[in-house]
Amino acid sequence: MRPYREAIVLAGGFGTRLAHVVPDVCKPMAPVAGRPFLRFIMDQLAAAGFDRAVVADGYRREQIEDFFGSAYRGMAIEYSPEDTPLFTGGAVKRALGRCQSDWVFVLNGDTWLDFDFAALEAVVSDAPEDASAVIAVKRMHDFERYGTVDVDADGTLTAFHEKRPCEEGLINAGVYLLRRHALDNMPDKFSLESDYFECVVGNGSLCAVECTGGFIDIGVPEDYKLAQTMLAPLAKSWKLAMFDRDGTINVDIGHLHEPEKLELIPSTVDIMRGYTDDPDYKVVVVTNQAGIAKGLYTEADMRRLHRYMEDELEKLGVHVDAWYFCPHHPDYTGPCDCRKPAPGMLLAAMRDFDAMPIDCVMYGDAAKDKEAAAAGNVVFHYVKGNNYGE
Ligand SMILES: [Mg+2]
Repeated sequence: MRPYREAIVLAGGFGTRLAHVVPDVCKPMAPVAGRPFLRFIMDQLAAAGFDRAVVADGYRREQIEDFFGSAYRGMAIEYSPEDTPLFTGGAVKRALGRCQSDWVFVLNGDTWLDFDFAALEAVVSDAPEDASAVIAVKRMHDFERYGTVDVDADGTLTAFHEKRPCEEGLINAGVYLLRRHALDNMPDKFSLESDYFECVVGNGSLCAVECTGGFIDIGVPEDYKLAQTMLAPLAKSWKLAMFDRDGTINVDIGHLHEPEKLELIPSTVDIMRGYTDDPDYKVVVVTNQAGIAKGLYTEADMRRLHRYMEDELEKLGVHVDAWYFCPHHPDYTGPCDCRKPAPGMLLAAMRDFDAMPIDCVMYGDAAKDKEAAAAGNVVFHYVKGNNYGE
């Protein structure tokens, strides 16, 4: 089962270098290929199965928070705002206080790096006990706007060098896997790069992984222009196949939350596989999980079950792209607009994947699924006879 994954996204910068190109938005929300740049990073995290993203924001943070709210593509979104500039290190340290994993990814909200998260995690799993960070590095040619790093044969990062004209060299690509307690002894306000990484580099606690995928720093006007074409293929409108969970994908035993009690329904798995194989579709689950409101299990329990279900479904050729859930129940948490038959989860999925209702389909086993689909203008198909719990 993939690990619980958390990321901090640094999105509090002023964007001074880009201000004359996009004057009215904070840099991470600068439009790229018709959508806010930060969406590409959030899409990348969601596709990698991240459970939670903590956005360290500040300047014009309402633009970010109004857009992403509390969840995106099934990933919980939290905010760690700074009232006064804490610089990168202070912002990360503060956001780490909201994290719970031993190791947390840190991404810059103004750079794009196409890379494999698991490659950084692999280093940590056999790193020495005193490793504090894994830094993604990228080989660049003919540049002068970046400082460079030295990496020894073991993958230990051994030195940072100032910016200078360079024919070829490795640069810090702005993606890190950081030990959660690495910054405990640092002050509240500092630069992660110059006050931390450059100070501890001599002790061998920094590891490096060379990433070969695309890299763009939208803080630089010429890269911002390049991003419009480079990222355009990722700004796609999808069709959605949406599935209820209990009684549709799995046998409904009532408040399922224990992986060992999962029993998949083969006929629905076959339908899901068909959509997985269709390159125009994303497969999402939209499920009422009132057991969370009732205190029968926690959101963490549910997310663990969903990671297990992902593995079981992958073995059968099904890929789930996002899990939408409603943790509410009117008797316990008051009314909400996400609990089916309300269409909130369907509307959120369509928003997150730029899907039109006419391009979506919903499968479910209950009247509330049908009503939610109708309210969202989405075609509905009953999955019959599988609700063993009734
Ligand atoms: Mg159901």
